[in-house]
Amino acid sequence: MKSVNKVECAVVGAGVIGLAVARALALQGREVVILESENAIGTGISSRNSEVIHAGIYYPKDSLKARLCVRGKELLYSYCSKHGIAHKQCGKLIVATNDYQVPTLEEIEEKACNNGVLDMEWLNRAQVHKLEPNINGLAALHSPSTGLIDTHGLMLAYLGEAEERGAMIAFNSPVIKGVITNDGIRLGVGGNHPTELMCDTVINTGGLNSQTIAASIDGFPSCHIPETFYAKGNYFVLTGHSPFKRLIYPVPDEAGLGVHLTLDLAGQARFGPDVEWITEINYRVDPSRSRLFYDAIRRYWPKLPENALLPGYAGIRPKLLGAGNPPSDFVISGPNIHGVQGLVNLFGIESPGITASMAIAEEVLTVLR
Ligand SMILES: Cc1cc2nc3c(=O)[nH]c(=O)nc-3n(C[C@H](O)[C@H](O)[C@H](O)COP(=O)(O)OP(=O)(O)OC[C@H]3O[C@@H](n4cnc5c(N)ncnc54)[C@H](O)[C@@H]3O)c2cc1C
Repeated sequence: MKSVNKVECAVVGAGVIGLAVARALALQGREVVILESENAIGTGISSRNSEVIHAGIYYPKDSLKARLCVRGKELLYSYCSKHGIAHKQCGKLIVATNDYQVPTLEEIEEKACNNGVLDMEWLNRAQVHKLEPNINGLAALHSPSTGLIDTHGLMLAYLGEAEERGAMIAFNSPVIKGVITNDGIRLGVGGNHPTELMCDTVINTGGLNSQTIAASIDGFPSCHIPETFYAKGNYFVLTGHSPFKRLIYPVPDEAGLGVHLTLDLAGQARFGPDVEWITEINYRVDPSRSRLFYDAIRRYWPKLPENALLPGYAGIRPKLLGAGNPPSDFVISGPNIHGVQGLVNLFGIESPGITASMAIAEEVLTVLR
């Protein structure tokens, strides 16, 4: 017979969000168990992304993405410095390559300002050339507060601090069902040692699986579970030395930020992510997509050599709206919204989730009150 253990807080999923939330709960002195279906932390979205510390530029005013990105960025820079997590405030350029894109750049500058990002600098062609001589840019916005981070180092730091405060992590422990009872939420955990946990608080940070986890909780109102859509982002790696010191972004497109250039902390350049709508999770990078990359990149870097791009890796965005729709906001849905005491579901935590992770954790604590 399966045992039923009691635990104060269960966090479902050990990606960057679950670990940030677990740390925040543990720092409050709460008893925390992190349940992770895989055998390691951060094997989902958190290990397949651009690792950029975003400034908070593009998001609609007063959205969660805007507020939590700007707050999260400040928290993150100071956390990285304090805990010795590798990061670099390298800055980024958003480049207009023709006259038609200049008004969009102006809109982006205004959005950034509305979001409290007040350090954006407007550059003319000569100034763009001085900073990044290989870029073909009529004008650009420079964001000095954009940077890079070692996400795995960040997750290890969150976990380490949570564990120091008594949190426990259980690997190979998928949450397979739940029941809402008068005494709390009872979670059914599968894996090699199936068990049941009676929890006062459950935080669902299951990434691409958040909707499935919410739907597996008996008695949870389905009207509070948004639909899931997957938008794969493919990356191509630049062979050889990067001629750029900063991140280079084109003016954004429909569902993403356009095929942009990011660097890793070692200075290796990669391009992406693009947007490929898929219905089933797969991480294959189709080499034939490189054609679209060459065309997009050459608009701002005309001298990109032929055969310079190799298929890299892919990540999947947990979208709440499908193709053709504007990006949706983060959803952090607590008892005030769905009426189930002690339960918080996080849906659609796409970019800028890493940047916002500590601010998202703060928000979870707020909605739990
Ligand atoms: C292509 C791409 C680029 C991005 N670039 C950036 C960027 O540059 N900067 C930035 O700030 N953000 C970026 N993001 C967003 C960021 O990566 C995510 O917001 C963040 O990693 C989400 O973390 P998570 O913890 O919610 O999800 P995940 O990391 O996926 O974690 C969820 C965890 O839940 C576990 N799980 C799932 N189901 C169960 C279950 N039933 N029981 C137990 N465990 C379960 C999974 O195994 C996984 O470990 C990007 C995202 C994508 C897709």
